[in-house]
Amino acid sequence: MTDTNQTTYGFQAEVKQLLKLMIHSLYSNKEIFLRELISNASDALDKLRFESIETPSLLGDDTELRITLDFDADAGTLTISDNGIGMSRDDAAANLGTIARSGTAEFLGKLGDDERENARLIGQFGVGFYASFIVADEVCVESRRADLKADEGVVWTSRGDGEYTLESAELDFRGTRITLTLKAEEREFADRFRIQNLVRRYSDHIAFPVQMPASGEDAEGFETINSATALWTRSRSEVSDDEYREFYQHISHDFEAPAAWSHNKVEGKREYTSLLYVPKRAPFDLWNREAPRGLKLYVQRVFIMDDAEQFLPLYLRFIRGVVDAADLPLNVSRELLQSTPGVEAMRSALTKRALTMLKRLSTDDETLFGEIWDTFGEVLKEGLAEDTANRDQLMELLRFNTTASTDASQRESLAQYVERRKEGQEAIYFLTADSLAAAKASPHLEVFRKRGIEVLLLTDRLDEWAISYLTEYDGKPLQDIRRDGLELPGGEPEPAKAEDVADDGVIERLKGSLGDSVADVRASDRLVDSPACLVAARDDIGDQMRRMLEAAGQEVPESKPTLEINLAHGLVRQMSGTKDDARFTDLANVVVGQAQIAEGRLPSDPAVYVNTLNRLLSGAVD
Ligand code: ADP
Ligand code: MG
Repeated sequence: MTDTNQTTYGFQAEVKQLLKLMIHSLYSNKEIFLRELISNASDALDKLRFESIETPSLLGDDTELRITLDFDADAGTLTISDNGIGMSRDDAAANLGTIARSGTAEFLGKLGDDERENARLIGQFGVGFYASFIVADEVCVESRRADLKADEGVVWTSRGDGEYTLESAELDFRGTRITLTLKAEEREFADRFRIQNLVRRYSDHIAFPVQMPASGEDAEGFETINSATALWTRSRSEVSDDEYREFYQHISHDFEAPAAWSHNKVEGKREYTSLLYVPKRAPFDLWNREAPRGLKLYVQRVFIMDDAEQFLPLYLRFIRGVVDAADLPLNVSRELLQSTPGVEAMRSALTKRALTMLKRLSTDDETLFGEIWDTFGEVLKEGLAEDTANRDQLMELLRFNTTASTDASQRESLAQYVERRKEGQEAIYFLTADSLAAAKASPHLEVFRKRGIEVLLLTDRLDEWAISYLTEYDGKPLQDIRRDGLELPGGEPEPAKAEDVADDGVIERLKGSLGDSVADVRASDRLVDSPACLVAARDDIGDQMRRMLEAAGQEVPESKPTLEINLAHGLVRQMSGTKDDARFTDLANVVVGQAQIAEGRLPSDPAVYVNTLNRLLSGAVD
């Protein structure tokens, strides 16, 4: 071996897995490799410009930051170069041999056999540099960090088959040059026209010049093939929808177009420009509280940091975008941002902008907003607790299934609910359950169905918690129909005829046989078809909350429901005629167990419930 510093390494297991999946599933989107490489080059230029504020010598005499594309049709190669920050040997090993994002392994584990679904998921994950291997047999990265000497360069090469080699080398340029040796069937990319088209389509908005060697017989030098101005600095009327979409794909690495965007310049005391987007799909780590989130921060067009989280609240973590502030200090750090004057005011203005953008989407395109709600609704609901200042705006965005929904995708706003309410209806009624089917089967709905009153059906995991922050909407109180104190419009129900109801002595007997397993027993006016239901006290902790707290290992105070019985129900009438006390107690326990089952829960002691029921059934058969 002549060269002792050339070493072969294995890719991290996740990289191997990603490469294999990506090459197959992204085949129909293969041209995205160029967008990814140009995007990385642009990031590298951003970083160098940022570091050179503190250390101007990093730029040397190579001050014109740019990206250069070149190709050799005969050799079937394509080269992407930048004079940005570059990589040291260690950087190359860490950045081009591993995936640092937490949750990657679980993410990859989720991918299955469906290639289209994989493509969609991988697209959200962001494939980045590794996308080169969709079109290349071999990738060679030559790089030198801006603060290192000529002989401290590194050459990274790989065929994407599980290994890469690293070699230290002398490089006469700063930054990174990536050479792709295209697969035989991908040589179309070694073509001027094809490259130019792709750059115009996907990378026009890159804020640095993207150049190619000039074309034509005796052309010299380079020509710039993109607009090379930061998109957000242009005025709204000059930017086309397509350009907005491509810029979104650049900052988010999403395959899909965004659902909406909002581009604003704020002038006056605090000057800044923001460009916010609502994605259509959730990132795979939406529920990982540690996942990076936030806007890309620029100060006077100089890139400062990715994922600046101080500019939006946690419940808007799915919003992507850029904020370019005119008067933040250039050396602002993540830590400093928290205490920098003005950042708080920007955060509250950007929060309002994001909410306004969502509201506008909901009025412009109800169907699309419905999809956004399906994807991010649960996250937005966190805002009800977190952001009291914007609760009213958030309430306008809420969507719920109701007793009128024929399927789960059919949702209504509070405004629509209020609009449709029954005459004399003062409250907004809601019911929480584990699923739409469970909600619809709840005995608590019977009287509402009978009187034609709509009820909101809340089935998300956090609904009970989120709704506890809402007391009223449009002056109308929200009322949980499973709790005490239910008031229905139209006054008292008309009493059933005496001969059709059980003797109300049955209530006292029930109290006696159920003992203190229930808080109370009383006749119900909310039941029609069911014999009984359980009603919680107003301030009881709800079922969802109880389960969540218990799952978190917390002790939850016991709360006893009240049993309401339907005196007109056949079973209850039969009970009141039962002389045998043992049989009566069995029936009472079965009625309570059924009421629990009807709420989607298990009877307090399932084995006892089954035994009791069997005892009754065998008695009935005898
Ligand atoms: P991401 O861009 O999302 O970080 P990539 O897979 O595209 O993921 O790139 C991985 C890392 O490799 C980058 O974060 C960066 O550190 C490094 N890298 C890639 N291309 C370049 C480049 N042209 N110059 C400097 N570093 C680069
Ligand atoms: Mg990248």
